[in-house]
Amino acid sequence: MTQERRIIVLGCTGSIGTATLEVITHLASAGGPTYRVVGLAAGANATLLAEQATRFGVRDVALADAGSAALLPANLSVARGPDAALELIERIAQPGDMVMAAIVGVAGLAPVLAAIERGCHIALANKETLVAAGSVVREAVARKGVELLPVDSEHSAVFQCLRSGTLREVDRLVLTASGGPFRTWSAERTANATVAEALRHPTWQMGRKVTIDSASLMNKGLEVIEAHWLFDLPSERIDAIVHPQSVVHSFVEFRDGSTIAQLSPPSMKLPIQYALTWPDRVAGCSPTIAWDALRSLEFEPVDHARFPAITLAKRVIDAGGSAGAVFNAANEVAVEAFIEGALRFGDIPAIVTEALDGLQAHPVNTLAEVLAADRQARQFARDRVAERAAAAR
Ligand code: NDP
Repeated sequence: MTQERRIIVLGCTGSIGTATLEVITHLASAGGPTYRVVGLAAGANATLLAEQATRFGVRDVALADAGSAALLPANLSVARGPDAALELIERIAQPGDMVMAAIVGVAGLAPVLAAIERGCHIALANKETLVAAGSVVREAVARKGVELLPVDSEHSAVFQCLRSGTLREVDRLVLTASGGPFRTWSAERTANATVAEALRHPTWQMGRKVTIDSASLMNKGLEVIEAHWLFDLPSERIDAIVHPQSVVHSFVEFRDGSTIAQLSPPSMKLPIQYALTWPDRVAGCSPTIAWDALRSLEFEPVDHARFPAITLAKRVIDAGGSAGAVFNAANEVAVEAFIEGALRFGDIPAIVTEALDGLQAHPVNTLAEVLAADRQARQFARDRVAERAAAAR
């Protein structure tokens, strides 16, 4: 008899959240572990949340936008407001539950930590959580003895490659980056790119924030820091390389000179499914590589002068403490300002650099300390954005 596990999907209405629900539906007939959705959390999309709750027979839901919660049917038990996802976890999470962490931004941190404290296993898409609070999350995961399973395609690839050897045998992790829509653009054209241009990702369909992060390569910076916390390697043993086809999702170089890579067409359903079926593999629902049609796999070095994100990320790993929260918060503020038309695309890394320069790293051991560093960095970054806007007038 197949075992049924409980799952709570945080960020259920987003790109990862909806793909997760599709994978859960697929797993019901794939011969592996099956999941019963017991909780759903979203930001503002009440219509889709209600539809998902009906489709999966879920009673307990959370919606961060309290105003939109009025649109939800009366038969649902609704947590509402900015802490709704946290409230949902505190109300329904049980030891051994799986929690898909797919809220975007540091908003996902408190619910993930609460889920870990309740003994839940975490499938982690929400990289900002590990970037901002890596030491706090790692400590809680170790103390509670739960699994922290990567969903990001690059980290899932590394996780899969590591079945070939132990971490002690690893020389270097190399995360692949598509290079984003501006890979072949001049520095000046990139600096003045519009929101519509930044949202035109060549290989992946994703939420707005991660798509902008991919265009600036800040996403790769976030992922380098995420890899440091997931795989416990220092900054000099984590690198990135541009691979425009997004077929090789990352590779691991072992001490003996062997390189193991993970390949599949760009679809998040595979890494989501791997996190949900690990340590087993069952029939997949995403496409496989058409080898006969594949002619080439290209690689090129990252242009660190045009895209300083990875250099900044390594600086963050080396500084430790609050630096991750500062990096993430300044980037979130800069991306929002860019989307609102208040900041040039090319100034996103400059805002993050100024925040790292201006706010000295200090140890963070609790959620409260991380959130305090996050608030301070947000204010610092908002002030820098406002200064630029004033200077441009
Ligand atoms: P989306 O923008 O598509 O979705 C974000 C989700 O978070 C939505 O369900 C949104 O709800 C919800 N949400 C936002 N704020 C809150 C809040 N305060 N409380 C509860 N829910 C909230 O993002 P993605 O799915 O693309 O990305 C999610 C995370 O996964 C990000 O951290 C991203 O970096 C990471 N990731 C994404 C990948 C991808 O392919 N998309 C790949 C690898 C990682 P609503 O829509 O209702 O507002």
